Amino acid sequence: MKFLNGWFLSFIFALVAAVWWPSNRYHYLVVHHTASDTGSLASVRRAHWARGWFDAGYHLILANGTHGVAAGTLQPSLRYRLGCHAVATRSPRHNLLGLHLSVVGNFDKQSMSPAMRANLAHALTLLAERYRIPPDQILLHRDCSATVCPGRFVDRADLVTSLARDAAQVDETVAARQRSVLGATLVAPLPLFICLWAGQLLLWFAWRRWRARRGRRLRSLRPT
Ligand SMILES: [Zn+2]
Repeated sequence: MKFLNGWFLSFIFALVAAVWWPSNRYHYLVVHHTASDTGSLASVRRAHWARGWFDAGYHLILANGTHGVAAGTLQPSLRYRLGCHAVATRSPRHNLLGLHLSVVGNFDKQSMSPAMRANLAHALTLLAERYRIPPDQILLHRDCSATVCPGRFVDRADLVTSLARDAAQVDETVAARQRSVLGATLVAPLPLFICLWAGQLLLWFAWRRWRARRGRRLRSLRPT
């Protein structure tokens, strides 16, 4: 009976966590810019490796059509695939609970093109819906810590109020490509369930083995 309880409890815990966690993992959606005219996940990754980080500091990069990546493509970093924290702001809370998206471009020098605005609006709408992030939690990097990122030509109120209108302008092939990125994360019910349950069972078996060994040792020490 005890054996059954171990299986059952770990199964229920893994199931509940695997259903709840993927939709509640992120509380904020934070927009950045790369502050460069060209770029891609590969170039951001190289720059951040040089700082000693294991991957790009952001979860997603929104390509602008340079470095051979089609404009509007959302490139997921390992942080997005694994669902880990970002290293993108000086605010631990926003790094831990935020989903960080960096748009390739420098919006301190120039405003975003209408096509890029549509790409960004569609990406934000898609992610906000998937992760159930309300509009008042869609932020710019400078709302989290002292910086100009994502540049003076990006205005939060303007971005958020025109989301639906701008997103409607997106090219359908770009929209489809952006939707496919949602499948690139391991923080989805099935893989998460498998990891959580397998992890718990391994711990449980290890604990049982340790207890059995300790029992044998104690018995051998007992005076006869
Ligand atoms: Zn930033």
